[in-house]
Amino acid sequence: MSILSLQQVNKKYNQAIDFAINDVSFEVEEGEILALVGESGSGKTTLLRLIAGLEHPDSGIISLSGQKIVEGKRSVPAHERQVGMVFQDYALFPHLTILDNIKFGLKGSNQEVERVAKDTLRLVGLKEDYTKYPHQLSGGQQQRVALARAIAPNPKILLMDEPFSNLDAMLKDQIREEIRQIIKKTGITAIFVTHDTKDALSTADRIAILHKGFLQQIDIPKVLYENPVNPYVANFFGKRNEMEAIPTEDGYHTTFGFISDSEAKKHKNKVKLLFRPEHGEVVQRDGQQLSGKIVKISYFGSHQMVKLADDEGKRVTIRTNPGRSFEGMDRAQFFLWKYDVEEAY
Ligand code: ADP
Ligand code: MG
Repeated sequence: MSILSLQQVNKKYNQAIDFAINDVSFEVEEGEILALVGESGSGKTTLLRLIAGLEHPDSGIISLSGQKIVEGKRSVPAHERQVGMVFQDYALFPHLTILDNIKFGLKGSNQEVERVAKDTLRLVGLKEDYTKYPHQLSGGQQQRVALARAIAPNPKILLMDEPFSNLDAMLKDQIREEIRQIIKKTGITAIFVTHDTKDALSTADRIAILHKGFLQQIDIPKVLYENPVNPYVANFFGKRNEMEAIPTEDGYHTTFGFISDSEAKKHKNKVKLLFRPEHGEVVQRDGQQLSGKIVKISYFGSHQMVKLADDEGKRVTIRTNPGRSFEGMDRAQFFLWKYDVEEAY
């Protein structure tokens, strides 16, 4: 069942020429974690602020739990929407203890408020830190306090703006997983904004990708990565190689060699073959379809990237396992097990 629905939402800021959000429609399922990705300025924060009620759209409908919270000029005020928000800089109250930070937004008897605040801190793994102040905590702990404060009032949906951007790389991998588990344990529906594709691919159930305020695609990570609807989405999730190819009855002629493919005859004119580094494989045996001069090998621990050039100096990058040795080799053979064909025009 969908808990949040946006229908043709548009938003233009005063004085701006372009709309920040263009005709965006999508639904979020109950209990789902949705990542909202896009480059800087694509409208991610604006979209969260529209859902939270911190901005009002020029047109469109937003519904939460079956209630229309925005329709035309009418809207439910932010504080009545039951939306939890975690801001990029956490926005904790510096002069309040951790416990008081959590209690701040809670209603009920003192006893009840105390119990809920402590339960939530326990849930995020911070039960010994009740009396500390935000500055006495690490970045990762402050992050968890911000999360606890947002989820303690039991919101209908949790919105997080760039929640991992202030954490260093090592911490990030761990915290991302912890936060995912906390959110899943509570069963809360969440949308988090990120410009980092790794955050989105590893943490979200589904990903929505924005470009210039337009929703490009919304789907599970694997589909966005493997079956992007357009070149923008494809390139957002990592660089793709391009190889010019001339189609024949039984394959493609490229400057790296011939690729057998009975589908090639569908095309009349020159095409581009597009593939990610992991969609190729370097092989040691001779007689493979394709080959190139080894230009550069970059070692990354978990894998290596091999740059290969054709006779004209055009390059492609192929990913290999970290154990493969290229010592004494001038050229390498490779094949492609997956590629998209784009008509050149
Ligand atoms: P993102 O979070 O993806 O970086 P934003 O939602 O912050 O993108 O911004 C989307 C567009 O709206 C950008 O062009 C930005 O300059 C513009 N914008 C954002 N906030 C305001 C504002 N308060 N007033 C005017 N323009 C704004
Ligand atoms: Mg932003």
